Amino acid sequence: MSEAATRPERRAVAAYLGLALGDALGATVEFMTPAEIRATHGIHQKIVGGGWLRLKAGQVTDDTTMALALGEAILGAGGRVEAQAVAQAFDAWMRAKPVDIGNTVRRGLLHYRHSGQTQVPLDEHAAGNGALMRMLPAVLATLNADETEMQRACLVQAHITHHNPLSDAAILCVARMLRRALAGEDLPSLYAVEVLPFLQAHPVFVARKREENPSGYVVDTLRAVLQALFDNHDFETTLIDVVNRGGDADTTGAITGMLAGALYGEAALPARWLRALDPVVRERCVRQAVGLVGVY
Ligand code: MN
Ligand code: MN
Repeated sequence: MSEAATRPERRAVAAYLGLALGDALGATVEFMTPAEIRATHGIHQKIVGGGWLRLKAGQVTDDTTMALALGEAILGAGGRVEAQAVAQAFDAWMRAKPVDIGNTVRRGLLHYRHSGQTQVPLDEHAAGNGALMRMLPAVLATLNADETEMQRACLVQAHITHHNPLSDAAILCVARMLRRALAGEDLPSLYAVEVLPFLQAHPVFVARKREENPSGYVVDTLRAVLQALFDNHDFETTLIDVVNRGGDADTTGAITGMLAGALYGEAALPARWLRALDPVVRERCVRQAVGLVGVY
């Protein structure tokens, strides 16, 4: 691989495309059980649309389109992650009638619309994965800043809709993993330096069995993502593993896709998946990834 292909902005492109590919691949089997997936698709490994949302082949869902809304807001603010600009972008995203939207996201954006506040109250029960799935642009925009600024940026975008300790913990773990992977660190290093200390500090995220049917609860989601990520050693098998677990498969696909894209790089993204992805989405992901890493 050429040196240019391993530079952080090319890994950022791979992470952003990985997010969209995982979303598009997983959406076909979202809310199915592994047994239902096996009966319908064998091993699901094609980007063909369908699913409960009746998507076109290559179409993405809220996971990717909320990330794109966040990225536009950051680029529009000269690379800064500003709560007001991000909340406005999310609200405009909801007004445009997205193909799907989570309950906590909807509630948070209505709270913003009615109160003007860019942070929902702390809620012990609002531990959905909706702020985790869309966080990638906040990491890319702060790649050259210190880690405190990255954490602030990730949580500012999160607290517009999700203000919960487990959501925050998951977001900061994935943000730190992404930052290391984008810098070129490998899978064993990510585990030793980030995941092991994270699991020791937050044992609720330790998987006790094979995670199947992961729900939208951020703990279930991240358990499945970490299991698939560390049980496999290339982009394609990692993504196929996680979406065939069913449940919130577009979201586990999206989160796993951004991590695996950052880890394995652009050359590892299957050409047949990239060809199947909505070309407008593909182009926006590439343009934002390069812009966000460059602007800070
Ligand atoms: Mn979705
Ligand atoms: Mn989902």
